[in-house]
Amino acid sequence: MIPMARPVIGDEEIAAVVAVLRSGYLVQGRVVAEFETEFARYIGTQHAIAVSSGTAALHLALLAHGIGPGDEVITTPFSFIATANAILYTGARPLFADICPDTLNLDPAQVAERITPRTRAILPVHLYGHPADMAAIERIARRHGLAVIEDAAQAHGAAIDGRKVGTFGTGCFSLYATKNITTGEGGIITTSDSALAERLRMLRDHGQRARYEHEILGYNLRLTDFQAALGLAQLHRIEELTQRRIANAAYLNRHLAGIVTTPTTRPGCRHVYHQYTVRIPTGRDALARALGAAGIATGIHYPLPIHQQKLYRELGYHDSLPIAEQASREVLSLPVHPALTTEELDQIADTLGRLVSPVGLSLSKQDLSRGQDG
Ligand SMILES: *Cc1c(COP(=O)(O)O)cnc(C)c1O
Repeated sequence: MIPMARPVIGDEEIAAVVAVLRSGYLVQGRVVAEFETEFARYIGTQHAIAVSSGTAALHLALLAHGIGPGDEVITTPFSFIATANAILYTGARPLFADICPDTLNLDPAQVAERITPRTRAILPVHLYGHPADMAAIERIARRHGLAVIEDAAQAHGAAIDGRKVGTFGTGCFSLYATKNITTGEGGIITTSDSALAERLRMLRDHGQRARYEHEILGYNLRLTDFQAALGLAQLHRIEELTQRRIANAAYLNRHLAGIVTTPTTRPGCRHVYHQYTVRIPTGRDALARALGAAGIATGIHYPLPIHQQKLYRELGYHDSLPIAEQASREVLSLPVHPALTTEELDQIADTLGRLVSPVGLSLSKQDLSRGQDG
């Protein structure tokens, strides 16, 4: 089976982790600080604050901006659940705005329509590694005095006109095992606001600035030094890993054009292809089963928009967000990760070409029944 993700862990990663384990100092020490400095330099911010997950990054970024009960945060319904749940953790209410049909990122025009006197922040996601429309989102935020928190969990190194995501608002990155770079579990927040960075450092460590002096209600959401060592080694090769994702996507684009709707890249944007996601207007699930039977793993990101999840329905969400709802029925992610070989890319393109004719799905009865077993 060609998998959807395969972490690239080499000798440098293994040696770096072992060195920390032998050092006797395990949590949030020198190596975390070094990782933060290098990550901030890579993104282009003054500060980076490492935390235990991407979810923790979003949660603490919202808290550091003072968001809490009675506040509203506008976000996308078409993301991993953590994006909206982080807003719920603070006691604030997520408001969902529909997405753009091409990038499937938050539609700024829809955001503008949802602003109320309670709105405090906009939380765009750079979905699949393609930047959200930050120029338009920043304009809206400035006009209404709103904070911007970027969910860059899938977008390490993505950029607009050479400026990396995570520099537009408060950047929240995930370092989970399947993300573009990983520490196993982990997250990191980017900002050039020194006061905000200070607050984030306190929030992740029981509200203390100096040891055992607890000034605010904080949490234990720290990263370990051995995770940071893994992160540093990954960061040293992030450009190589990203170039491989981009090259794999370009290869798939060339071979799949005219067969399926391939991903969009807007002018000036650097798409880092956390996911390579095509659109299959009819028969998506049957195609996914047939690909699985042919040895190609696929993913659906995401099969149900957040506002339609049970949790959110029970919280009283009844939005109609037709672009997101349609996308959830049509999207299909194919393997694009950096460890793919040319043979595997050919197998993906050839199999998809065989299963889909230029006018639509051409699944044979045999493909379908095989798919059912697989
Ligand atoms: C992975 C992810 C998160 C959460 O990150 P974790 O490190 O798994 O907590 C949040 N938002 C998006 C869009 C993600 O893909």
